[in-house]
Amino acid sequence: LPAKETFGFQAEAAQILDLMANSLYSNKEIFLRELISNSSDAIDRFRIERFAAPETAGKEPEDEPRIRVDFDKEAGTITIADNGIGMSRDEVIGNIGTIAKSGTAEFLRAMSGERRGDTALIGQFGVGFYSAFIVADRVTLTTRRAGLPADEGVRWTSEGKGEYTVETVERAERGTTIVLHLREGEDELLNEHRLRSVIKRYSDHIGRPILLCGDDTPVNQATALWARPKSELKEQDYNDFYRQLTNDFADPLAHVHVKVEGRYEYTLLLFVPSQAPYDLWLPQSLQGVRLHVQRVFVLEDTDRLMPRYLRFVRGVIDSADLPLNVSREILQGGQAMDHIRSSAVKRVLKLLKDMADGEPEKYATFWKEFGATLKEGVPDDPAHRDDIARLLRFTSTKHADVSLADYVSRMKEGQDKIYYLLAPGLSDAASSPHLEAFREKDIEVLLLDDAVDNFVVTALPHFEDKRLQSVAQGPPDFGDLEDAADKEAAEQAGADYAGLVGKLKEHLDGRAFDVRVTSRLTSSPACIVANEAETEFALAQRLRGTGL
Ligand code: ADP
Ligand code: MG
Repeated sequence: LPAKETFGFQAEAAQILDLMANSLYSNKEIFLRELISNSSDAIDRFRIERFAAPETAGKEPEDEPRIRVDFDKEAGTITIADNGIGMSRDEVIGNIGTIAKSGTAEFLRAMSGERRGDTALIGQFGVGFYSAFIVADRVTLTTRRAGLPADEGVRWTSEGKGEYTVETVERAERGTTIVLHLREGEDELLNEHRLRSVIKRYSDHIGRPILLCGDDTPVNQATALWARPKSELKEQDYNDFYRQLTNDFADPLAHVHVKVEGRYEYTLLLFVPSQAPYDLWLPQSLQGVRLHVQRVFVLEDTDRLMPRYLRFVRGVIDSADLPLNVSREILQGGQAMDHIRSSAVKRVLKLLKDMADGEPEKYATFWKEFGATLKEGVPDDPAHRDDIARLLRFTSTKHADVSLADYVSRMKEGQDKIYYLLAPGLSDAASSPHLEAFREKDIEVLLLDDAVDNFVVTALPHFEDKRLQSVAQGPPDFGDLEDAADKEAAEQAGADYAGLVGKLKEHLDGRAFDVRVTSRLTSSPACIVANEAETEFALAQRLRGTGL
């Protein structure tokens, strides 16, 4: 056997280890949740590989999947062992010594910010294995990859201080065993009762049996919650499951749980969180919806299971039709997946609609956290545009939290358009001269101040049969609200000021597209209007701070 080799951790890994060892004080016991969740993933990956590689992993004994947790009071150790897929030597070095994960830098930043020392961040950033060093000052991991011979076992050891060693060892059974040598002062964990309650609290819904101290009765439920009949489940069960799934400390706002049988068979259990995660606006969110195939966890994905504008949705999709070795490519193509995805989108939009109709206060919370994300669906998802349009909320010259349906129900007699003003800040919007004539006529105008609103109104020319009309673009247009006297007065004014308009045009030649007399203003002498070629949002931004 080759001698022990020593390696240095990558700089970021070393920083994370240092953090684990020295600055985490709350909920230290979450290390167990992280290691158990790795074991559970490893068991799922083994089940997939047994089918995919019958000549290697397929030759492994068909023992019952299980995760064992034990402790030794004398030695001061806790051991977590699984019969999952295990790791080869290269995998150990690649997966444990290297952190090439998108979340790492963010994690370090978040940890040095106001949430310093908050263990809740660990699960959210996927740096779970290292959490062993919260309570241990030495960790030994022994593993053997499914399908490799017994003499290709690997032992990895580290004190979490910049280096680790790797050596090749004999190991008959596949899977991974992790031994934590507890730091001084962590002895209270060496207690069956204590470990049981930690497992119950954080890992109850792990779909594999967790066996404690040689006992054959699992500590956890060990069944997939979503596969249980709805009638058996209480609100609390869903909330517990959600918190274990996401590591969120808050309960979700709402969930939808459906089993679909028919041409395709699948179960959806999807949640709307009550708070936006830190990474909602990063180019790549880290947590998404988890895809299972017949209870076996296959992958977690943020783009292909849910459209981008619903990226805040968490939960599980379990399909009976997809192959176990489903690839990310299959996710993009296949009919079964297309069907499931579109059904999932419909269910989520329906869930939101029911919330908006039945629990407006809850919906206001949702809108505050995720409204700007949902709006992206108007340009991005034409198939559901009408449903999304009904979920939108705006501020107007008269009310907050205005839906388009509210607006329409309050329209003036003779009004046939939904008027809006795009402006980068609500205070700018409220004082805009474009609103003067609308105030005069007591017409409500929606004030759109979000950067994405520009795309929303471009993609949504109509709501029901009402056109959305900017108050700042093109010539003023009151439709049927304009009476004959107004028109006559406007024409008269046009004639009266033709000379002045001619002079102004000459003077502004090359700088203004057109100059015209308007009835849109009541107290300001003049205003600048965007033409069709320039979006008014861009115009407003360009004019910001120029005094116009
Ligand atoms: P994550 O689980 O988010 O990938 P972790 O830090 O928890 O991050 O684990 C890093 C990697 O180490 C895992 O992705 C996996 O490849 C490997 N690993 C950890 N624990 C085990 C285990 N018990 N069996 C097999 N592989 C494991
Ligand atoms: Mg993990």
